[in-house]
Amino acid sequence: MKVVEFICMTCGKTIKKDEMGRRTRCPYCGGKIILKKRPKIVKTVKAI
Ligand SMILES: [Zn+2]
Repeated sequence: MKVVEFICMTCGKTIKKDEMGRRTRCPYCGGKIILKKRPKIVKTVKAI
């Protein structure tokens, strides 16, 4: 299952979508500037 995470630009905390609820706000500091966290792309490279 994919978990959508956001980052608060005010306090720098990672917020899960569930924690945020319907309001697009940081539950920790109430900040409104929230960025969607990009999932890390892990490349699998075969070692020869
Ligand atoms: Zn915050």
